[in-house]
Amino acid sequence: MNENMDRLKKILELERSKGYRDSAVMGGLDKFLYRISLSAPALTDLMPINYSSLDTEQRKTWISHVLNHIDSGGKKSSPKVVVSSRNFDISITSIKGINTNLKEKFNKLGVETVRDLIYFFPRRHIDYSQRRHIADLEIGIEQTVVAHVWEATEKRLPSGRRATEAIVGDESGNIRIVWFNQPYLAKLLKPDKAIVVSGKVSAFRNQRVFEAPEWEFLDSEDLTHTGRLVPIYPLTAGLSPRVVRRLVKGVLKEWLLHLPDFLPNSIKKNTGLLDLTEAIKQAHYPDNDYYRNQARKRLAFDELLLIQLSVLSKRRDWREGNVSHSLITDTGQIMHFIDSLPFTLTGAQSRSLGEIQQDLTKTKPMSRLLQGDVGSGKTIVATAAMLLAAAAGYQSALMVPTEILAEQHFQTICSLFDRTTGETGNGEHVRIYNTLLPQPVGIAALTGSLRQSVRKEVLARLSSNEIKIIIGTHALIQKGVDFHQLGLSIVDEQHRFGVMQRSELRSKGASPHVLVMSATPIPRSLALTLYGDLDLSIIDELPPGRSEIKTKWLSPVHRQNAYNFLRKQISEGRQAFIICPLIEESQAIETKAARTEYERLSKDIFPDLRLGLLHGRMSANDKEKTMQRFYSSELDILVSTPVVEVGVDVPNATVMLIEGADRFGLAQLHQFRGRVGRGIHQSYCLLLTDSPSLEAKERLSLLERTQDGFAVAEEDLRMRGPGEFFGTRQSGLPELRMAKLSDVQLLNLARKEAIDLFNKDPYLRKPEHQLLAAEVNRLWNSRGELN
Ligand code: ADP
Ligand code: MG
Repeated sequence: MNENMDRLKKILELERSKGYRDSAVMGGLDKFLYRISLSAPALTDLMPINYSSLDTEQRKTWISHVLNHIDSGGKKSSPKVVVSSRNFDISITSIKGINTNLKEKFNKLGVETVRDLIYFFPRRHIDYSQRRHIADLEIGIEQTVVAHVWEATEKRLPSGRRATEAIVGDESGNIRIVWFNQPYLAKLLKPDKAIVVSGKVSAFRNQRVFEAPEWEFLDSEDLTHTGRLVPIYPLTAGLSPRVVRRLVKGVLKEWLLHLPDFLPNSIKKNTGLLDLTEAIKQAHYPDNDYYRNQARKRLAFDELLLIQLSVLSKRRDWREGNVSHSLITDTGQIMHFIDSLPFTLTGAQSRSLGEIQQDLTKTKPMSRLLQGDVGSGKTIVATAAMLLAAAAGYQSALMVPTEILAEQHFQTICSLFDRTTGETGNGEHVRIYNTLLPQPVGIAALTGSLRQSVRKEVLARLSSNEIKIIIGTHALIQKGVDFHQLGLSIVDEQHRFGVMQRSELRSKGASPHVLVMSATPIPRSLALTLYGDLDLSIIDELPPGRSEIKTKWLSPVHRQNAYNFLRKQISEGRQAFIICPLIEESQAIETKAARTEYERLSKDIFPDLRLGLLHGRMSANDKEKTMQRFYSSELDILVSTPVVEVGVDVPNATVMLIEGADRFGLAQLHQFRGRVGRGIHQSYCLLLTDSPSLEAKERLSLLERTQDGFAVAEEDLRMRGPGEFFGTRQSGLPELRMAKLSDVQLLNLARKEAIDLFNKDPYLRKPEHQLLAAEVNRLWNSRGELN
């Protein structure tokens, strides 16, 4: 029996003899158990989550389990862990030292509960770990000295500012320190007190001086503000770095010990990750760089694992709770349709269609994401899929984010049928085609702006199963829309729809097969994580013969050139988009800026041209109207805020000018660029930046070099931090504090562990998975929008 086991046994026997009153060790058993589990990982399995919170009966059971285990030489199975813990979801006011005043300030930073504060990680650390003798201090780098105070006096500087000046010394020499506006320091820093000082040294009149350094007394070995990797937290008015550090440190000391680790031991063993409490401690106050990284790794893994698990459980619920119709069709009819197209499908289109067709034949509902860059030809694939459903006698719905897009898809899809088959009924909103199918195929558009009588007619023909393919906005999922037999739901531009809308569409009628389409090229690893509830088809190939959209980065001094170029294109009969800069603060400010820009452009730059403005605060109706005017060439230039989806095909538009391009992610810029080059004319994308910095140029030059959306996405992901990849406004992704979505290795590890776990215990019902299940629930509840 090893030494640790021996110690553990002695202590537990003592605890038993003392009547389970948590009195066998000073400071409580938890602390002891925690330490021993650190020095002997093999014992981790034996540890209760939190001994102090167990009642006597539970303590008794647990101790007898462990003693049995030890006596059997480890042969008897591990005792069951009793789950019980403090409530971490109570207000931070229960933390020592946090009053309502401080509470409000923390709330501003999004910290409301004890858990929030524990997970309130520093933005970075400043490295004060380099200790020097005073004589060896160098100018300009971060260093730390341990010194004693010779004297400290209050001074008035020539500028009139109050300050404290101190002279401190160690065995190698003395140095002056100045703190501004903190006269009380003069009284605090009594002569002979030992202090630790961290900061940069500067030179003043040939003398070295610490200006406003961090400092603290050397009365504990446990440094907070100096002499180590010191956390730098996000702050808000009235909340000083020192206060935040002290409070976080306090909460870690007081509470962290009681925080159960929800990660099952099996996963910890497989991955070699730190324990939760250790990781959190190291994330705030790392012993060194190595531990800081290990901490980040563990916490990032947690985030990714939880997303994985919730995505997997969603998929499971959807799959198990629903049965779809198996849509088996004679593919000959579809082949006829495809053969009649004016082009041949790309390999990627055929492959995707094949995957969809496979899914449709099953009674498990399809749940597939069709991903392809703008212009990769998703519409044809969707149309063929809907025709497959029609051939099996079922209806399909295609849902798009705007009315205009619905109209446009309707026209496009009809024109595909126009070429192949005889049209029997013509109407503005319903068309009926004779295909090779036994029954004619009705196609309709249903939008919110239909006249009441037309709407009625469309709805009637939908419920009588005459209309097989219907295209519309979210109006499709409103009450009063009854399908005869909905077999397939397709959601286009899926990132524009919230989860709620997605699931509403799913629940219409007997579970339809669901296909979502997205033009945001997401690297595969990421797609698997975010849309792990979906199978993935990727169209990674553009139809042949696409001409490149000439892309150019321009520094601010070249703005006039850009305007001249735009004017020239318009004089040749083309149209242009101008996208205003992204302003994160609020939509109101963004709108205001766009208005100002619109007026400036209308008055000063293009007084003779027809300009339109599109912004997020317009009613849907007005947006549609403006888009419509641009579409029908009543406008030359469309000025738009970035939030507005200009996802409409305007083949005559050839210039996309983006202001403040350096504020956007590359993927988003690529999306904007995809709005031009949709017709026969050579198209251009002009990227104007606020700052002419080299870094901006380097980033944007990637767009100059490549037209490949996936390459752009990979690079974007690599360069930008968590959450920013999509732009937070539309990601539906929980906030990631630690994980970087670009960390493919960790993504894959989390995914693998999640799948293994899921295969073993799909409902996370085993006792050792209880805590994990609770954690998944928490993620789910706090962010209703997860994927
Ligand atoms: P997406 O919705 O993926 O952005 P679309 O479906 O709107 O792309 O297709 C863009 C354009 O490419 C359309 O004009 C379409 O007719 C055309 N297209 C689609 N597939 C092909 C193909 N295989 N060969 C040539 N042109 C194609
Ligand atoms: Mg499309």
